[in-house]
Amino acid sequence: MQITKNVHAIKIPFQVKTDLGLLDRFVYSYLITGESPVLIDTGVSSSDKIIIKYMEAVGLKPEDLSLMILSHSHPDHIGSAPSLKEVSHCPVAAHGGEQSWIEDTELQAKERPVPGFHSLVQGSVPVDMILDEGDEFDLGNLTLEVIHTPGHSRGSISLLLKEEGVLFSGDAIPLKGDLPIYEDYQASLESVHRLKELKNIKWLLGSWDEPHSGDDIIKVMDDALEYLESINEAVQKVNENMAVDKDPLEFCKLVLIELGLPMKVANPIVAESFQENLRYLRNLNKE
Ligand SMILES: [Zn+2]
Repeated sequence: MQITKNVHAIKIPFQVKTDLGLLDRFVYSYLITGESPVLIDTGVSSSDKIIIKYMEAVGLKPEDLSLMILSHSHPDHIGSAPSLKEVSHCPVAAHGGEQSWIEDTELQAKERPVPGFHSLVQGSVPVDMILDEGDEFDLGNLTLEVIHTPGHSRGSISLLLKEEGVLFSGDAIPLKGDLPIYEDYQASLESVHRLKELKNIKWLLGSWDEPHSGDDIIKVMDDALEYLESINEAVQKVNENMAVDKDPLEFCKLVLIELGLPMKVANPIVAESFQENLRYLRNLNKE
């Protein structure tokens, strides 16, 4: 789907196997065309075919890519990176905070056991370029700026295509009612506030959400902040009603009930988000 003159959204449907059945999901990869084409994120392990087919439809070959940027290391963003690297020969760029999990996916599977990890990820890929806050790519006719937006993961980045006012937010903006996933609750809040302050944004392109434009953009960010706060309140409420400490997954299920979310999203990753809220609440009480 073409968004602006030089930005295309490539929608990638996939399924995650969980203990409680199959979870239907989708993720977006984004293609910036123009003088130096760039691919942002690579979907899951089978997404290379969809991405290459899309590129061909707009007159590009994989080897035309000048750069592949990974917004962060999670499976649905790095899944096809090895095969796309092989056909494009272009450098792979990511924030330093994500490097170890991109370059060693077995380490990631061990430290962050996402259900169905190995069916979502082809394998490791070297990070050729380390990105940080404020870095800018000169793409000839376009400029792409890196904004460090941690919280969802420590090295999560957003990208701003200045000339066209397009903000690629990766997974930095939580989607109301969707899987709550963050490793630092406070940083997540701060990152959304940070993105809200950006001026002249015409399009907001997240990985798990449909494209937004105009007044919708601030609404999506406000909804995200409200959602984060409601999660924190639910964690606090469940915690206060508990006589003894519960196992994280059991605790996760109680919070999901409180939030009215389906039980099949209960998994160790979501459970870890709620444990992070507990840490955040304990720190607040200390102050
Ligand atoms: Zn993610």
